[in-house]
Amino acid sequence: MTQETGGFAALDLNPNIVAAVLATGYEEPSAIQHQSIPIILAGHDMIGQAQTGTGKTAAFALPILNKIDVSKREPQALILAPTRELALQVATAFETYAKQMPGVNVVAVYGGAPMGPQLRAIRNGAQIVVATPGRLCDHLRRDEKVLSTVQYLVLDEADEMLKLGFMDDLEVIFDAIPATRQTVLFSATLPASIRAIAERHLREPKHVKIQSKTQTVTAIEQAHLMVHADQKIPAVLRLLEVEEFDALIAFVRTKQATLDLAAALEAKGYKAAALNGDIAQNQRERVIDSLKDGRLDIVVATDVAARGLDVPRITHVFNVDMPYDPESYVHRIGRTGRAGRDGRALLLVTPRERRMLQVIERVTGQKVAEARLPNPQAVLDARIKKLTKSLAPLVAESEASHGELFDRLTADLGCSARALASALLRKATNGQALDLASVEREQPLVPTHTPRERSTGERTERGERSDRGDRERRAPMPLAEGRVRCRTALGARDGIAAKNLLGAILNEGGLARDAIGRIQVRDSFSLIELPEDGLERLLTKLKDTRVAGKQLKLRRYRED
Ligand code: AMP
Repeated sequence: MTQETGGFAALDLNPNIVAAVLATGYEEPSAIQHQSIPIILAGHDMIGQAQTGTGKTAAFALPILNKIDVSKREPQALILAPTRELALQVATAFETYAKQMPGVNVVAVYGGAPMGPQLRAIRNGAQIVVATPGRLCDHLRRDEKVLSTVQYLVLDEADEMLKLGFMDDLEVIFDAIPATRQTVLFSATLPASIRAIAERHLREPKHVKIQSKTQTVTAIEQAHLMVHADQKIPAVLRLLEVEEFDALIAFVRTKQATLDLAAALEAKGYKAAALNGDIAQNQRERVIDSLKDGRLDIVVATDVAARGLDVPRITHVFNVDMPYDPESYVHRIGRTGRAGRDGRALLLVTPRERRMLQVIERVTGQKVAEARLPNPQAVLDARIKKLTKSLAPLVAESEASHGELFDRLTADLGCSARALASALLRKATNGQALDLASVEREQPLVPTHTPRERSTGERTERGERSDRGDRERRAPMPLAEGRVRCRTALGARDGIAAKNLLGAILNEGGLARDAIGRIQVRDSFSLIELPEDGLERLLTKLKDTRVAGKQLKLRRYRED
């Protein structure tokens, strides 16, 4: 965080909520939380301009939990989300933050699952309902009173809901909730359509926007990689194989993440340590001193714990988890490139965080180029380079000091000089894989998410030619049993994100979430894994489906 925040305890939240948040590993409120929580607690309507990655879910979930009357077993808060995926995520977040508030019940309501149990859960006393608009309207048609006790309404990702065509459903829902409610609207963008909704349905809303002053970043080479959230640690390990760093700081969001990544690095033989808010001051100083004098090479830290850390040896900053705002990003990467040295900053971006990357680029006025994970050949080259470097100073003097020993060993072992050298190498490298086939076996695929298709032989952000023999890009992802891949000509350039496709197929195809496999959105097309069984019927059902205003036109895709 770049601004001073007073911590969660200063926010006037119920101590049970604060305890749950701290137990989750959050150390300080993010900027959007810091600004929104007091406004929502005070009962104002609010428009929050924030995208995924800023901590917006907790920004509304915490104050709403604070307001819930646990003794009343009826819907009190309604959160509307564009997709089933987001609705489930928000519902899970509520449950996490309510862990120490017995009696709070949360229900997620979305299409593609039977309606009966959802309605029963609402009637049985869920105080918090997280719903997609389409399915909620179906419930309203069955029971128009179902939302009559709601006092708090949140529209999450309002711009996405409009893009998915939920405008009419929203109007129906607004009408079904008492006019005395408090309404909070979150949206990454505020086009005229959103402002019109706010004008009609919000009362004197307060505006919250994370003010981003233009920031300047110099002398630091920046790049980003698209990677799925659960692949971050393998991605970091692979990047470290090829990055030539002196000291490195890796930023993550939670205490647990500092521990997990530091443990994974230590297991690979790196001199690494975690730095988080739980670490006592004297231990913190020891870690920083060790990073300064080379007893440690990598520190994995949260933003809070890294405050004031100034170590000139740092050549690399890895943003393993996205910073909350561009200021934090600039602050983080400013740890490198000290004292006129070159610095390099890498940012891992999950598919949902792509917008945050754009905000960072806008605020810093710089493009953060896309990098790719090194392929096995690059990993092998880097290993051999390191080995060569470590041997170079030794070969000059070895002939004189060990020549006789070498002759004697080859004689005693009855082997060739080459065989002896090979044996010594194996011993010296601790059995590390040093041929391509072994490196390939050792480095399982780390599926990355590509926002743009690249053409063969395109230059990477570092000016090298990328290796188009790259097996990770060519090899099709293996399909699960009973699934086939389908293709649509809609892609990122049409403004499509995976969640839009997921939402459309769930809502209009009537499939259960787990029936849909991986969704890969490329620039000019997307691939979606669907069940083979009943595929023709499903494609017929989706014949007229539109996503982001365009025809989906889904077809079976044959790899070869
Ligand atoms: P959101 O923008 O709501 O999708 O949140 C993005 C991620 O940030 C989620 O994984 C949250 O668990 C995490 N997060 C939210 N607030 C905080 C915080 N104050 N400290 C650490 N992590 C947070």
